[in-house]
Amino acid sequence: MDQDQKLSILADAAKYDASCASSGAKRRDSRSGAGVGSAGGAGICHSYTPDGRCVSLLKVLLTNVCLYDCHYCINRRSSEVQRARFTPEEVVDLTLSFYKRNYIEGLFLSSGIVRSADYTMEMVIEVARQLRDVHDFRGYIHLKTIPEASQELIELAGKYADRISINIELPSQEGLDRFAPEKNLERTQDAMGGIRQRIVEGRSERKAGRAASTRTARGRQAPAVYANGQSTQMIVGADRSDDAAILQRADHLYRGYELRRVYYSAFSPIPSSSTILPSKAPPLVREHRLYQADWLLRFYGFDVGELTAADSLDGGHLDLDIDPKLAWALRHRQLFPIDLNRADRESLLRVPGLGVRSVQRILQLRRWQAVRYEDLRKLRVSLEKVLPFVIVADHHPARQGLDDENLRARFAPPPEQLEFDFGRHNAAAGAALHHAPQATELKQARVSAHSGEL
Ligand code: SF4
Repeated sequence: MDQDQKLSILADAAKYDASCASSGAKRRDSRSGAGVGSAGGAGICHSYTPDGRCVSLLKVLLTNVCLYDCHYCINRRSSEVQRARFTPEEVVDLTLSFYKRNYIEGLFLSSGIVRSADYTMEMVIEVARQLRDVHDFRGYIHLKTIPEASQELIELAGKYADRISINIELPSQEGLDRFAPEKNLERTQDAMGGIRQRIVEGRSERKAGRAASTRTARGRQAPAVYANGQSTQMIVGADRSDDAAILQRADHLYRGYELRRVYYSAFSPIPSSSTILPSKAPPLVREHRLYQADWLLRFYGFDVGELTAADSLDGGHLDLDIDPKLAWALRHRQLFPIDLNRADRESLLRVPGLGVRSVQRILQLRRWQAVRYEDLRKLRVSLEKVLPFVIVADHHPARQGLDDENLRARFAPPPEQLEFDFGRHNAAAGAALHHAPQATELKQARVSAHSGEL
């Protein structure tokens, strides 16, 4: 099998990883012979570096051969997909040649498990080691690590990578027992704990290095001595876990393991799927709502219980029709309207339609003048969403507007005629990879949730 064929198989297998937020976007290419240039060559995706830059990455698996049999994964042992395997040297060559041609700025490397977790981890690390130590590669490297590998190897991966991640897969051990019997939640969290510890130590070592370099060469920044963040992803809709369970696990990981990101990936149908998976893929909007709720947990001061309260429309699940902050506000109408000229930051962040940046601008603006309707218009917030919930100098919503039973209906999409398609989901199953669950059309929506004003 030549390198192009391997690349096409192993890049395709890697596309299910949700950690590269924009990688599901449709891109133009000239492979049909028409036009010039390709924006989406095999295995090239976009990701965001810790400093916020968007970079192109070669996103590929070392191999899609796997000893494990996770039911939701297209590369599981019992799957009938075509298999391929790169040597570490081949991945190094590909990365360097793409890098020199300016196609990519870094590498995103994952792998199925061959021989043993340690052996696989050593191969993955070998790619990063050769790139850094032999070729002095300064580009971005994201390595997916295997929780079953030894702690020393996981730590070593972080020495070469800018970002490392371990996929938690499902929020409960019960789910793992059923869908990924070789996996263990506690072991995964232990591995995350080890990485966290090393990241913290690396930060201190870097600070110390920076202080030393200040004395010798002012302004020179000390290089990172360890990966500066870890992330994970969870598959949504493969097991019975509700949104509350998924968000509780995410919240636990953010608080206990200092994760940079938890990615949510709705499982989607794949060929020759396992029969124990649900026959239908979950609505893709569920994944989008989870990203919005995740944002609210991290930046808006909400806790999981508030977003998935038992009194919510569908206890334990987020409302699919409206965003979770609006759903919360509609359940707590007695707390509104909020006076934008008086309320503190925490209260302003709870107003539907006001994002972190808008709140910041409102707080700055009101130091000089009273906030008025025109100011909200200039902030380009959704007036339809914001106005029923706020008071400004020249706008005071009628109380009965807030109490209006039809308020929710104003924001929810109109009901749709359901279509019955009995054949479509019969072959349904989840596609994922321990390091790489599903690509979905909602990746675009994910991106907007990442930066959106809720
Ligand atoms: S999820 Fe990972 S460990 Fe599980 S079958 Fe897929 S590649 Fe193997």
